[in-house]
Amino acid sequence: SFHKSKGQHILKNPLLVDSIVQKAGIKSTDVILEIGPGTGNLTKKLLEAGKSVIAVELDPRMVLELQRRFQGTPLSNRLKVIQGDVLKCDLPYFDICVANIPYQISSPLTFKLLAHRPLFRAAVIMFQREFAMRLVAQPGDPLYCRLSVNTQLLARVSHLLKVGKNNFRPPPKVDSSVVRIEPRGPLAPVNFKEWDGLVRICFNRKNKTIGSIFRQKSVLSILEKNYRTLQALQLTEKAPSDDMEMALDVSTLGETLGDLSMDDDGNDDDDMEMDDGDAKRADFKEKVLAVLKEGKFEEKRSSKLTQADFMHLLSLFNKAGIHFS
Ligand code: SAM
Repeated sequence: SFHKSKGQHILKNPLLVDSIVQKAGIKSTDVILEIGPGTGNLTKKLLEAGKSVIAVELDPRMVLELQRRFQGTPLSNRLKVIQGDVLKCDLPYFDICVANIPYQISSPLTFKLLAHRPLFRAAVIMFQREFAMRLVAQPGDPLYCRLSVNTQLLARVSHLLKVGKNNFRPPPKVDSSVVRIEPRGPLAPVNFKEWDGLVRICFNRKNKTIGSIFRQKSVLSILEKNYRTLQALQLTEKAPSDDMEMALDVSTLGETLGDLSMDDDGNDDDDMEMDDGDAKRADFKEKVLAVLKEGKFEEKRSSKLTQADFMHLLSLFNKAGIHFS
């Protein structure tokens, strides 16, 4: 019996399972992490290809079925099954992750893996086709988005295999794709909260120019608030190296929460400061627009910006004391 809510679509095509295992490039010395092994069709081939498999499965009935399947076979002592939610458990050491996952955990799982240390060699994962295309999208592609930019900051991503829905039982509603994710060794020296703050703002209106995005009142007001707070704390001269610890905090990237709290907190300025406030606001807007001019970003669109462009834009803003978190 299958449960929609757990995304239990079992891979039924043995040739496809072989092809995934072969394309994963597993070494005989590899500790393999599998997520959502289900009845174990993929698990069996992984056990044959690698040194051991650690499989994390949420459904206790699947865990039992899996254990029964390998009981008394020579493969069983190289299989460890962890019953639980992969998003909530501590991941063990692994060399490579190979999995046909439930699609509803795609985004948080991707960033949980990319935040995992020590780094693994690669993750070869089945995703919903559109999610896969977003992961690998390049500047100018129609699906290029915040997910593409954030993932590619942390990893090299490539499309391996298109998989039609009829390879599964029961067939899901959508087609799938297998993607290879290779975490980048030394990470770019960037504060990820700031990076994501900038990228969110840019992709809120991805086909508008950067100039018009940063002229929006809601954007200017959150940036100005950050700016004043930091000024008050006399932290505006923060060097990038101060952020090294934050730079390793990739956990926030997986959050699918609404947005960078753009809404006002309801604290009105004192009456006394109102006029002064207006002048300050105009000054701040000029400051922001000067940054865009300096980097020639005003007429550009987020949908065409590369990783290097976002990096450059963030560093220009930071140099001007403007921060995104
Ligand atoms: N890997 C099997 C295959 O290819 O035939 C089954 C894949 S099925 C798409 C997803 C599996 O993930 C199911 O067995 C489901 O019980 C399990 N699962 C769902 N949510 C999970 C979670 N949060 N953590 C671990 N496993 C989960």
